[in-house]
Amino acid sequence: MDFRDSVEEAAFRDRLRGWLTEQKGKFPTSGDAYWAKAGDWHRALYAAGFFGTSWPKQYGGQGLPPVYDVIVDEEIAKAGAPARPSLGYLVVGFSAHAGEEIRERFLPGMINGSERWCQGFSEPDSGSDLASLKTTAVQDGDEWVINGQKVWTTQAQFADYCFVLARTDPDVKKQAGISYLLVPMDQPGIEVRGIVQPDGTAEFNEVFFTDARCPIDNVVGGVNNGWKVANDTLGFERGMSATTGHRRFEEEYRRMVAMARERGVIDDPTVRQGLMRYYTKIQILRINGLRSLTQTLNKTKDMGVVSLGLTNKMFWSEMHRDAMELALDIFGPASMLIDTAPPSGSWPAVMRAKGRDTYKPSPMMSAFFFSRSETIWGGTAEIQRNIVGEKFLGLPREPKAPAASS
Ligand SMILES: Cc1cc2nc3c(=O)[nH]c(=O)nc-3n(C[C@H](O)[C@H](O)[C@H](O)COP(=O)(O)OP(=O)(O)OC[C@H]3O[C@@H](n4cnc5c(N)ncnc54)[C@H](O)[C@@H]3O)c2cc1C
Repeated sequence: MDFRDSVEEAAFRDRLRGWLTEQKGKFPTSGDAYWAKAGDWHRALYAAGFFGTSWPKQYGGQGLPPVYDVIVDEEIAKAGAPARPSLGYLVVGFSAHAGEEIRERFLPGMINGSERWCQGFSEPDSGSDLASLKTTAVQDGDEWVINGQKVWTTQAQFADYCFVLARTDPDVKKQAGISYLLVPMDQPGIEVRGIVQPDGTAEFNEVFFTDARCPIDNVVGGVNNGWKVANDTLGFERGMSATTGHRRFEEEYRRMVAMARERGVIDDPTVRQGLMRYYTKIQILRINGLRSLTQTLNKTKDMGVVSLGLTNKMFWSEMHRDAMELALDIFGPASMLIDTAPPSGSWPAVMRAKGRDTYKPSPMMSAFFFSRSETIWGGTAEIQRNIVGEKFLGLPREPKAPAASS
């Protein structure tokens, strides 16, 4: 496969580079400010012709080959700009499972960024075991009435809509009674409460539904078929970065080498080994990404590539967690320093006493904290291992817990 740009691709890349240079410094790349501006970034990318490039024209995309998305991701990573909004899994999920009316109503706003979405799957007692979820939806005339609680809902505070997994039939096997509902967020029955994290940011939330409502037709994939839709969309969420995910790590690796030089630890054997291990794993990601890109462009598939989406998320998230530990070692105690005036006292005490706005750990610590979440969101690394073991390696299924004796 020849990965060099065609004339059109090179022109697109040039235009994108110029545009990214103009945007430099306008959009934050981390913290609460990043989440607050994420919608503006999405709309700016779209308006300039750099978002939704490969999605159907009918819904506001440009219908270009997927290689244009790859160019966007590459140039964004090189420019150190905020990542492309990760909506691909939703758009593909809707395209595969929603009826035409739902697609026409929701895909354009989703793609151009005029309607923001959040994902209402996890609940306090249902994360990995998502099928045990307790939020209910009951039909009342031409509406669903929703009651229950979701948790870890990223960007719920900015969302116009939430795609909610709710139990619509309590009397069947747990996976069979779930529906995938599209629920407007701006209504009295929904309360969003931010969850403050150790670095003081609050990107995700608890969401409480008390007689919240949505139209009866706001269902993707049919009533009681939500489990299939959810699994497919999660599959896309995990797999989406398989092709281009290594780019941002390459940039980060370069910054870590520069930092090791600056701090005089580049000759330390443990630092060298850690950097080499990181570099090698990034190259494995890159080569698997090229494999996956080749198959996407050739419209072919083999089982190795099908399982790549699953193994990829597991692989990069664990790699990045180790890399951020190394980054803290390289940076040394200074990584703990607080950006603004350092408060005294333990972190939780400072947060309680001063409120999260006054507490800002260094960007290094924030990146370290965030890396801990990467083996969790979208399905934990342990769950990915179970799926790969059972589905692709043919290992025996996890034994069911013995029934409790009375
Ligand atoms: C940054 C971030 C953003 C998120 N955003 C969203 C969002 O927008 N919307 C949303 O719905 N959810 C979101 N989540 C939630 C995420 O999907 C869940 O945290 C995840 O599915 C794990 O569920 P849990 O936290 O309940 O952990 P649990 O399921 O309680 O797991 C706890 C531990 O037990 C392990 N474990 C559990 N079952 C097994 C098993 N069968 N075999 C082996 N090990 C097992 C897990 O791997 C984990 O280590 C987000 C999470 C994070 C960290």
